[in-house]
Amino acid sequence: MNAGPPLWLLAELTYRCPLHCAFCYNPVDFARHEDELSTEDWLRILREARALGAVQCGFSGGEPLVRDDLETLVAEASRLGYYTNLLTSGVGLTAERARALRAAGLDHVQLSFQDSTQEVNDFLSHTRTFDLKNRVAGLIKAQGWPMVMNVVLHRLNIGHVDRIVEMAQALGAEYLELANTQYYSWALHNREQLMPTSQQLRDAEAVVDALRERLAGRMRIFFVAPDYHEGRPKRCVNGWGSTFLTVTPDGLALPCHTARMLPGLAFPNLRETSVQHAWQDSDGFNRFRGTAWMKEPCRSCDQREEDLGGCRCQAFQLAGDAAAADPVCAKSPDHAVVQAALAIAERGEPPARPLVFRSPANSRRLDAPGAAGALPQER
Ligand code: SF4
Ligand code: SF4
Repeated sequence: MNAGPPLWLLAELTYRCPLHCAFCYNPVDFARHEDELSTEDWLRILREARALGAVQCGFSGGEPLVRDDLETLVAEASRLGYYTNLLTSGVGLTAERARALRAAGLDHVQLSFQDSTQEVNDFLSHTRTFDLKNRVAGLIKAQGWPMVMNVVLHRLNIGHVDRIVEMAQALGAEYLELANTQYYSWALHNREQLMPTSQQLRDAEAVVDALRERLAGRMRIFFVAPDYHEGRPKRCVNGWGSTFLTVTPDGLALPCHTARMLPGLAFPNLRETSVQHAWQDSDGFNRFRGTAWMKEPCRSCDQREEDLGGCRCQAFQLAGDAAAADPVCAKSPDHAVVQAALAIAERGEPPARPLVFRSPANSRRLDAPGAAGALPQER
């Protein structure tokens, strides 16, 4: 089918990161993908994606600041006319680098926090980074960048949403994104420890609604609802191969940042092929474009154009079939898997095992053949 332009380029510059978040969205096997693209590769990708119509470029990771060519890449993206965004944990952003990135034309910074308290922030990232993030927020404001603060919500911090909003306000954030955990990658591995109860969610939503009204005109607050609790899937990445082009640190072109887990799909490597070929002609991008690939119950469902059958990675991880309906959907024959996970969260029993933090050692351990708890873990 005809592909429009990839409006959003997400450049995952590296899987390296000084933090160890228990909900990290990087692949669980990230340690086996250490071979990063060169500066020249990235410069070519930026040019080719822009020529194809991309208008926004997000630099993410891992932690993109560990790449010392970040300023060069931002300068080229800016020269090409992209609206540029840096998605960072803050680690590595000094006053000097902030000035250099400003001079390179960086438009916007998204700073992640793990919580409003030092204790939970540092526990969840397994680092002492809370004070540093507060200082980095000051650096961002000093450069005059609009600041998005991003906090992933889960059972361990969802009760703090009022204090998280207070903290965002005190640090001068223009936008606050409260994103409930999506259970892929490391978060799926830690789902039992992270999933909130439905009462926790309802309480948090009520608090956020009231604060959003009170802060109207001063700060915009986005609350990204969790799909497990809704019984309805979300349209994944605004539709497979419709808007987003993710490029992994080692050069794979993907429709979304978790899609490399899907078996039997050949995603092109941009070391060997052009962005145009990858986006328009590859099997990886064409397989789930539109609705023609759907099976029942999606094929005859009146919601199919609305949600496009939900998330392909979730379908694979929970149902063992990337072409199945997303099991968070109440009509999915595999919905019982989601209900069982919700029931565990509602019971609120202490989890059977401790959190597994993202680290190269844990990545290698979980990726080892026959490793206990290796993903996918549902079937
Ligand atoms: S989620 Fe945490 S560990 Fe993962 S890349 Fe972001 S800051 Fe690093
Ligand atoms: S059956 Fe498929 S198309 Fe219908 S609501 Fe569920 S996931 Fe969406």
